[in-house]
Amino acid sequence: MECIFCRIISGEIQSDILYQDEQVVAFRDIDPKAPVHLLVVPRKHIESVAELTEDDAPIAGHLVSVANRLAREAGISEKGYRLVVNCGPDGGQLVPHLHLHLLGGRQMGKLG
Ligand code: 5GP
Ligand code: ZN
Repeated sequence: MECIFCRIISGEIQSDILYQDEQVVAFRDIDPKAPVHLLVVPRKHIESVAELTEDDAPIAGHLVSVANRLAREAGISEKGYRLVVNCGPDGGQLVPHLHLHLLGGRQMGKLG
């Protein structure tokens, strides 16, 4: 198993896991770009958001729902936060296992 996020999900690689259920796992980004920087990933190895089909709508919705819950728990809901999904080389995706970045705790600034 080469995928680093699959290895985190299986527990083979240690990470700071904040939430998990049958479908998703959420853990702290190892190189945080904001005071709150969490990753929410499906347990199922889906390479990128581009691979999602209509059948995956429940998992896509659940990723967002869990991110919203974690934002509330981190106390950043009221001031706001950013959810980011990088896709492919031009999108800046480095880990080829779908993940949602939850970023907050500071003003995130303009995109680009
Ligand atoms: P991407 O650029 O693919 O959207 O984001 C990948 C994210 O995964 C990066 O923010 C990076 O810091 C994080 N990351 C990479 N390897 C590890 C790891 O081994 N553990 C954790 N917790 N995060 C990682
Ligand atoms: Zn994977």
